[in-house]
Amino acid sequence: MSNMFTWDTDANGILNLTMDDPNAPVNTMNSTFQTDLTETVNKVREAVENKEVTGVVITSAKKTFFAGGDIKSMIKATPADAAELTEQIDQMKADFRALETLGVPVVAAVNGTALGGGLELALATHHRIVSDAKGLKVGLPEVTLGLLPGGGGVTRVVRMLGLQDALMKVLTTGKQFRAEDAVAAGLVDEVVPADQLIDAAKKWIEANPDASQPWDQDGFRIPGGTPSTPKLAQFLPSFPANVTKQIKGAPMPAPKAILSAAVEGAQLKNIEEATRVETQYFVDLVTGPTAKNMMQAFFFDLQYCNGGGSRPKDVEKKQFKKLGMVGAGMMGAAIAYVAAKAGMEVVLKDISMDAAEKGKSYSEGLEAKALKRGKTTEEKSQALLQRITPSVDYSDLSDCDIVIEAVFENTELKHKVWAEIEAAVPEDCVLGSNTSTLPITELATGVKRPKDFIGIHFFSPVDKMPLVEIIKGEETSDETLAAALDFTGQIRKTPIVVNDSRGFYTSRVIGFFLNEAMRMLAEGIDPAVIEAAGRQAGYPAPPLQLQDELNLKLAKKIGAENKAAQQAAGISVDDGGVEELVDKMLETYDRPGKLEGRGFYEYNEEGRRSGLWRGLWDELGAGRVAVPDAETTTSGSGLDTAGTGGRPQKDQDGPLLIDLIERMLFSEALETQKCIDEGVLMSDADANIGSIMGIGFPAWTGGTRQFIQNYARPAAAPLPEGKIADSDGGDYPTTGVAGFVARAEELAAKYGERFTPVESLRK
Ligand code: NAD
Repeated sequence: MSNMFTWDTDANGILNLTMDDPNAPVNTMNSTFQTDLTETVNKVREAVENKEVTGVVITSAKKTFFAGGDIKSMIKATPADAAELTEQIDQMKADFRALETLGVPVVAAVNGTALGGGLELALATHHRIVSDAKGLKVGLPEVTLGLLPGGGGVTRVVRMLGLQDALMKVLTTGKQFRAEDAVAAGLVDEVVPADQLIDAAKKWIEANPDASQPWDQDGFRIPGGTPSTPKLAQFLPSFPANVTKQIKGAPMPAPKAILSAAVEGAQLKNIEEATRVETQYFVDLVTGPTAKNMMQAFFFDLQYCNGGGSRPKDVEKKQFKKLGMVGAGMMGAAIAYVAAKAGMEVVLKDISMDAAEKGKSYSEGLEAKALKRGKTTEEKSQALLQRITPSVDYSDLSDCDIVIEAVFENTELKHKVWAEIEAAVPEDCVLGSNTSTLPITELATGVKRPKDFIGIHFFSPVDKMPLVEIIKGEETSDETLAAALDFTGQIRKTPIVVNDSRGFYTSRVIGFFLNEAMRMLAEGIDPAVIEAAGRQAGYPAPPLQLQDELNLKLAKKIGAENKAAQQAAGISVDDGGVEELVDKMLETYDRPGKLEGRGFYEYNEEGRRSGLWRGLWDELGAGRVAVPDAETTTSGSGLDTAGTGGRPQKDQDGPLLIDLIERMLFSEALETQKCIDEGVLMSDADANIGSIMGIGFPAWTGGTRQFIQNYARPAAAPLPEGKIADSDGGDYPTTGVAGFVARAEELAAKYGERFTPVESLRK
């Protein structure tokens, strides 16, 4: 019978086991692997007993060593599968344990990337040699999928590195290490040229006939000690605080489960017992909702977006050589950098040579930093900078294959600039605009080739933000869409594709989050409580802080445009006092935001936040509505009496904190559903990835669409009177789309009809 481990013994009795799953492009911990591993380990054990095998090398026939857990099957796991899953995992762990206790040296010859389960397999060998293959990564990224390394990873890394380093450097960060960095971190032992990998493994085996794992040697102690070692016990209480700080209070169970599995496991001398604890925590996570959300978003949806899920299929792939970047301001300068970094020639055009050169200096600054940190070489850095040519002359664009325009946000100016660009560039040059709000179809009326015109919307800071929102105008052709996606791929960004609409997808939806928070402020809720709700919802930046960064002047402009559009459409909308609040902030108090050093927050001389502006309480009356269950202290707000703002509470029947949290999440999810109904969004993946990576929708939800589809009513939200949850035998839905709809209706009844779920959700 076939086995995915091919068996090859040399003259010295060294067995080479090469993994090659016949049914998949990569090796994963699927059922083939589990069955074949057990069979192989039993066979090796016998061969060792018969003295036919003196050492074992494990490697892979695939480009990667091993891809890790089988996400396709893990995402389907439900609480009903817990017992069966536990049994399967225990069997695999027993096989891993058998490998490291065979009595002969076992070496992992890591020929390509080994993440998650791949590294866990390698950790169950006595020595890990990694090839110098380009782009090879090693690590335990499970936490980024809402999971923990349940194949012995937590247990073994704690025993190798000690609790502190294991938790802070590897397990709770999910960091993917380059080969050299993995050696430095102590996860692997050496890096060798790819063609010497197997030889190096065999040499190590010959030199170390008595190899065993450190934890199987007499007198073994975990580096830094166990939780009962006084020195470590002293640090231990800071671990949960660190984890909480890392997740900022968001409902993410994985980091806490990792912490528990590591600490509890470290107290158990017996490694089998420790790995059993790890299995329990893993099974809890994998059968719960958060891991599903995160697997959907960060595996399947990301793959869809990066893998060209929305790219028209029959268009030939395009390779771009030269970008014409028009406008060398904040955005243009940074887009020029990422293109040059990806190997493209860039003409960076502005109205004066000073402005164009200032734009290029942005790249010089970033490269100087990269050099200082050893992230690049002098030679590479010089070559990159030489690819950027500052210019004031449109004729320099004559051989560009793509132009991106990022001049001021003004339709008239953009039309004028586009006429000049079009006159200068080749007939087949792709025409992209980085506008953040102006409808693409309307901008396209300013060019002669609207089919070649497309929105290529970057996020600031461009060199850090991974997302690009591609916007199709009414006349944009499939060829242009495909080309824009090829361009984003070439600069290594993740694209989402949307149809034209006011604010496209991302800017449109984030506005609802910010507005909802300002509405709460206008209602009289304490701003520190609003910020705490944002953090506990899992947003990377709480709403008032974010609004300060985006500036209230912009909010006013967008608010006015939206209002005009609504009036034109004959819709009357109750804005909950937001317009009045914004006007007061701007006109009465002159507090537009961070840029000016005055907004909802105060800023010190270096421009750092130094606490919420007292006037929110004293002048605007915030804090008059109590949130009875809000904590009385928050971190980072600069205030120590967040629950009350130091003011007496007048209203003890105010909303619960969970209502504030869900008002933020639902406002964005409901608007996303409208974008789907209107055809602005064409796939769930674009909604999920766009919302998480573009506008900070909390990662634990799996994105705006996944939040609706896999909704799980929080325990903190009491059911309406007299209702019994479906999970408790009643008929009130609390999960999935039906649970979302029920909860949206409750919010609509309490807070306004903007929460009324759209029809498409009731079907
Ligand atoms: P900016 O003010 O920093 O830069 C605009 C640049 O365009 C200036 O250097 C200006 O000199 C130049 N310019 C003006 N007229 C020109 C012309 N005729 N020819 C060449 N250059 C000309 O603005 P920005 O923040 O970089 O924004 C640019 C565009 O990107 C806007 O459409 C904006 O909406 C959009 N955008 C901005 C952000 C953001 O976070 N700032 C994010 C996404 C998109």
